[in-house]
Amino acid sequence: MSEGAVKKEERPRKFQAIRGTRDLLPPETALWSRVEQTAHEVFATFGFGEIRIPIFEQTELFARAVGGETDIVSKEMYTILDRSSENIWREVTDLYNVFPHPSGSPDYSDFIKRLMVFVERVDNALTSGEIPRTDANVAAFEKLKEMRRDAQSLLTNDVRPGPQWAGIINKLLSWPSTLGFEVNLSLRPEATASVCRAYIEHGMQQLPQPVKLYYMGPMFRRERPQKGRYRQFYQIGAEVLGGSDAPAIDAEVIEMVMTFFDRLELQGVQLDINSIGGRNCRPKYVELLRAELLKVRDKLGADSQRRIETNPLRVLDSKLESEQGIIATLPRIADHLCEECAAHYAAVKHQLEMRGVIYRENWRLVRGLDYYMRTTFEITAQGLGSQNAVCGGGRYDGLVELLGGPPTKGIGFAIGEDRLILSLQESGKAPAQQGRDVYIAWMGERAHATAIRAAKDLRKAGFSVELPPVEQKFGKALGQADKLGAKYALILGDNEVSEGLWTLKTLADGSQTKFTEPDLLEHLRKQRAL
Ligand code: AMP
Repeated sequence: MSEGAVKKEERPRKFQAIRGTRDLLPPETALWSRVEQTAHEVFATFGFGEIRIPIFEQTELFARAVGGETDIVSKEMYTILDRSSENIWREVTDLYNVFPHPSGSPDYSDFIKRLMVFVERVDNALTSGEIPRTDANVAAFEKLKEMRRDAQSLLTNDVRPGPQWAGIINKLLSWPSTLGFEVNLSLRPEATASVCRAYIEHGMQQLPQPVKLYYMGPMFRRERPQKGRYRQFYQIGAEVLGGSDAPAIDAEVIEMVMTFFDRLELQGVQLDINSIGGRNCRPKYVELLRAELLKVRDKLGADSQRRIETNPLRVLDSKLESEQGIIATLPRIADHLCEECAAHYAAVKHQLEMRGVIYRENWRLVRGLDYYMRTTFEITAQGLGSQNAVCGGGRYDGLVELLGGPPTKGIGFAIGEDRLILSLQESGKAPAQQGRDVYIAWMGERAHATAIRAAKDLRKAGFSVELPPVEQKFGKALGQADKLGAKYALILGDNEVSEGLWTLKTLADGSQTKFTEPDLLEHLRKQRAL
């Protein structure tokens, strides 16, 4: 075998981005930045503050908040088993903090009571699956029970704290380093669960209510990739937590998204709204819907047939052509809202009208989870084909409580940033690539020093400057300036440097003018202002 052939075989493998993920490159990233900057600006005018939440959380958080039965949680999450006890089992650390007690008189009986509660919690968590039943976890639990026995023996023997406790206490003290439970962590498939977790964790209910937060960043779902659907995609969203559920809050949140889209000049924007009722009226409606669906069961597809049992509301989501005629005849929730929900819905519509927000009512817009209530909305835009939803949102008054927090009103939305960008590109709203303002064509050592200084001054004044690292012939330099889309070439050769007069060439028309350094800056500033 020749040497060349060996080399070829040994060439390292090339890597590609994982299916469903992609690199965002310039100039497209300039559009992403503009969209995000606009979100920061518009949301701030509505009094929202930015929250940055972790990329991964305990799987259980999503299972509870998004729903264990949903596709998102049951099939689409990226989950790993991680040995990270400290986050969930704060109690271990709290228990540990009882020792050594600075005042010298720790309350051992309190410690032991807390230990009992802790062991019970672990037991329950193993049963519910919150702590997965791995070998390591079962072994850790056995060890925990052994420690409970030791601690119990201290109580039952009724020994006063003294040297005889030392052995057992030393053993217990080594806990946090020896006892760790493996837990499931998942990459976030959405952000509302994390925002609610953060609201509870940081006691934000103590702040003036409502708390208005927005976020932006990547989410992860193992979906089948297609145009407008990725496995790593980006969302920009906001949540209003606490305070009241006044219809004006719903309307203002929607107004904010519409203002944002308006500022971006997004085309073909269509807002659909609906009310899905609340605890008083939705269960009755769902039962009615189920009864009606059972009557037409045979005419429905397999998915819808299954959903009659699991989640009848989801049948209304069906895009299946053959089911559309049947769905049109089903009872509509608007006719079955209780008095309070009907009044709330009417007021939201009135509030939207007061704000000049144009909407369409869509009785089939539903959300399957129990904690969603009353207002739901979805926004579509042009140029996106079948994946044309750019924003989904709604009220979720029960969620914070479901996650262990106080009763808290909540409403929010999530915008699919990838789709928003696609739509802007399709309608020609994407900004053209930003070329350099000035390309500095220099020749000679003295000119190089001047060029470096000129670049510094121009950049300080906010111009985009390309300073070639090595000397080039002027012809080549001008060609390069052209390729980079520069507006001007600043020509610096020996003559220019000794005369103190710099040549500025306008690349669009080839005209050349000589300037002193201050005049040049002044001239460029004026041109920029035009
Ligand atoms: P959801 O969190 O499912 O209510 O989605 C809110 C918005 O996020 C949708 O309207 C889409 O614009 C966007 N979105 C959801 N899933 C994906 C995905 N896999 N790829 C791209 N965008 C998505």
